[in-house]
Amino acid sequence: MTRSEDLFAQAKKTIPGGVNSPVRAFNGVGGTPKFIDKADGAYIYDADGKAYVDYVGSWGPMILGHNNPVIREAVLAAVANGLSFGAPTELEVIMAEKVRDMVPSIEQVRMVSSGTEATMSAIRLARGYTNRDKIMKFEGCYHGHADCLLVKAGSGALTMGQPSSPGIPADFAKHTLTATYNDLESARALFEQYPTEIACIIVEPVAGNMNCIPPVEGFLRGLRALCDEFGALLIIDEVMTGFRVAKGGAQGHYGVKPDLTALGKVIGGGMPVGAFGGRKEVMEYIAPTGPVYQAGTLSGNPIAMSAGLAQLNELCKDGVYEALADKTQQVAEGLKAVAAKHGIKMAVNYVGGMFGIFFTDAEKVTHFEQVTQCDLELFKAFYHGMLEEGVYLAPSAFEAGFLSLSHGDKEIKATLDAADRVFSRIKL
Ligand code: PMP
Repeated sequence: MTRSEDLFAQAKKTIPGGVNSPVRAFNGVGGTPKFIDKADGAYIYDADGKAYVDYVGSWGPMILGHNNPVIREAVLAAVANGLSFGAPTELEVIMAEKVRDMVPSIEQVRMVSSGTEATMSAIRLARGYTNRDKIMKFEGCYHGHADCLLVKAGSGALTMGQPSSPGIPADFAKHTLTATYNDLESARALFEQYPTEIACIIVEPVAGNMNCIPPVEGFLRGLRALCDEFGALLIIDEVMTGFRVAKGGAQGHYGVKPDLTALGKVIGGGMPVGAFGGRKEVMEYIAPTGPVYQAGTLSGNPIAMSAGLAQLNELCKDGVYEALADKTQQVAEGLKAVAAKHGIKMAVNYVGGMFGIFFTDAEKVTHFEQVTQCDLELFKAFYHGMLEEGVYLAPSAFEAGFLSLSHGDKEIKATLDAADRVFSRIKL
């Protein structure tokens, strides 16, 4: 038994499924999850002392790489002043100004402690501000686990949403309408059915929870136009993409201006942070200036703000996003070339610091339905082969991969060499 196997067996006795967040249990790929002892730069180390080149990066935030000394020092300095005050701090003001400066659509911002809180609060605000109940999301997009967002499409294209988890009353889910990602017409059809009832659209500007699906040309701007036409707010969920796809978020990259933006992970630099922000007039509709209630005991926590600010400051340095995109391209195109060499049909998508690989005959993957048709068995074989070779990919065919600035030539070459060996072992 490895130490990870021991720990997993022990964990399952006191923690449901042995994990504090489901995808960590390796349900998507089978086998035993690696318990992680520590991480540094591009590497994570499991409880058995094995090192892996890490393409999960704590599911996105570790853009500088793990254990970055600038962030670490900022955290240690903040810890010396106390852990939490439950009162305003200067750090929160500096953070708000930083976010405003980096993301032009954000005039005011409120800190929370997770991405789920950010999207949930943004939606409550949109509903309160527009005085409408319905919301629109896209199949395959994930926005955290708030009741109204854990909803799948009904059986017909224009039916009410249905809960995708027990515990969510159908009466809640019915207010969530589900359209098809990268299909503007499906969004328009919902607006035409409910022209005055939809408070907002919430969308991942690059879908990162159905592998990695960038928006097709005109999709995001088309959503903006639909929202304007029907008096709804556009919420762009940049929990994954914010400060990873580009300095101004994916919204800057694709040139679309939302009313509200949800942020998470990345602005915490690895600490539990989320935020939502947007137009001042809308943001002032939350308490204490406005009637929509939203609060958090640990919101704007000084340790989290210090880590996040240190990370954002580093990300504002020249050349950072070019370097990140270049590394991502090398990995994505490299993997594609290695697969082709072995006669394995594989498509890749990538943008900024995120990428996705698809075992499919399709040249281009742009829709959720295509993702569900990929060869899952081949993915699992590839996944476990790579893990054995010391490359840690997201343990699910429905998650994006993430690069960091610490991924150097050595790590990229090791990854591609590993893929070469794994593909040569996989029997088609
Ligand atoms: N929105 C998006 C786009 C996400 O990817 C996630 C988490 N992966 C969330 C919201 C929820 O964030 P959290 O897990 O911090 O609650």
